[in-house]
Amino acid sequence: MKKLKPKNVNLLVWIILIIGLIVAFCGVPQDASTLTVIGVAIMCFSIIFRFIFYRCPHCGKYLDRSTGQYCPYCRGTVNE
Ligand SMILES: [Zn+2]
Repeated sequence: MKKLKPKNVNLLVWIILIIGLIVAFCGVPQDASTLTVIGVAIMCFSIIFRFIFYRCPHCGKYLDRSTGQYCPYCRGTVNE
């Protein structure tokens, strides 16, 4: 499997999060709690997705909130 670039992972996480939010909010006015649960589950998935894939391409460490050009652990370039 090809490694995802951290900036692409961030973009995907936002897309998944927004989809989850839309699904959850669609359920609110209709009192469709199943839809809300699915929406929340999608949002949780985006966080898990980020934790799995938002890693340094060099040392493989989780980058957490680091959005800079360099890995805080090995100083390698993150988005190359
Ligand atoms: Zn690194």
